[in-house]
Amino acid sequence: MQLDLPTLAIVGFLCSLGACIGFTSLMLVLRGLPVLRWWVTSLWIGTIGIILLGLRNQIPDWLSISVANVTVTLASALLLKGVALHVGRPLRWRWPLMLVALYSALNIWFTYVTPDLRTRVVLFSAVSVAWDAWTVTYLLRYAPRDVRLSCRIAAAIMVADALHFAYRATLPLNPDAGQNAFAAGSPIIITYVAGIVVGLAGYFSLLLMVTERLMVDLRRTARMDSLTGLLNRGAVINDGVLSLGRARQAGQPFSLLVIDLDYFKQVNDTWGHDAGDAALCHVARMIRRHLPEGDAVAGRYGGEEFVVGLPGWSMHEASSMAEQLRAELADVPFAYRGKSIAMTTSIGVATALDGQTFQAIVARADEALYQAKSQGRNEVIQARQA
Ligand code: GH3
Ligand code: MG
Ligand code: MG
Repeated sequence: MQLDLPTLAIVGFLCSLGACIGFTSLMLVLRGLPVLRWWVTSLWIGTIGIILLGLRNQIPDWLSISVANVTVTLASALLLKGVALHVGRPLRWRWPLMLVALYSALNIWFTYVTPDLRTRVVLFSAVSVAWDAWTVTYLLRYAPRDVRLSCRIAAAIMVADALHFAYRATLPLNPDAGQNAFAAGSPIIITYVAGIVVGLAGYFSLLLMVTERLMVDLRRTARMDSLTGLLNRGAVINDGVLSLGRARQAGQPFSLLVIDLDYFKQVNDTWGHDAGDAALCHVARMIRRHLPEGDAVAGRYGGEEFVVGLPGWSMHEASSMAEQLRAELADVPFAYRGKSIAMTTSIGVATALDGQTFQAIVARADEALYQAKSQGRNEVIQARQA
């Protein structure tokens, strides 16, 4: 098999162009997802760099060496900016631009002042390893837990890229190559083949990161009550069943509150629907403040009805939390746009009986709640334990 660099350069360019077209289309479909803007810009700039590198001897050297190298390293900076945004640690331009400037200055020096192909090859490898290491650091250190898997896979591919560049720096060059990297000889050619494979894997790792992020966001949105940010009814039932199962397995009790605001229709009628919405958010914040760390499940079960599942909590502990919630809401009126809105709540509390399903516990707490309503409201009632 004959491998020659110009052919490999064309294959590399075609792969890169394909990635540009694919990612640009993806960006359009996903309505300009911010990280994709960085990555698409990086891909196009990198492709321009590859074209310039490939036109060696056909265009002036300052274009095919200097501009091409600056362009390729700028593409790495843009990729890093996108990764930093993806993991929620936006990176300012200052340091990446300094690395771009330093590399460009050295590249120009070893092209025109003291021409040295060997040093330029080593420099290119060194800067590539530096970008890879920087990006891997962001991927491994800062990736949020829910998108960590795709970030780790991307980091592994970047480590492979760094190793391939480090290896390339150690390979001997053809003594007849002069200043032409395209004539550098066969060991170097092998690293170009590896570079194409790692590059393709890298494109897929970007896709993987976008996909995992979208999946996590979609799941979160599907489980969330959009007004209060608590779980919605479906997610409460789903998580409640799981949480009850875990508590049972651990031989722990499981208690549950059903919280319903009193005469809430009057809040809407008196103060308006927006005030009612704000009041629901206020109650949600209060519930969140009282939640224990860990496995507790809290959500909006219906219009102005909330459910809180407390694994490991006894009837006594859950009732005292319910009493704190009731008292806090009754004692401190909710301040909304200069108005003071008085609210009270009725709460039913139930603790899981042997073998009882999550829905059955909710029904028992609901019965207790209706008892509280019929006794005049603003009260906590415990469900009967039989
Ligand atoms: P009770 O003490 O018997 O529970 O009386 P209530 O008025 O709270 O109960 P009712 O079921 O008669 O009315 C519930 C009200 O909750 C009616 C509805 O307008 C209001 N509500 C439900 N969901 C929302 C919401 O998302 N936003 C606002 N602002 N109001 C809501
Ligand atoms: Mg109500
Ligand atoms: Mg209700």
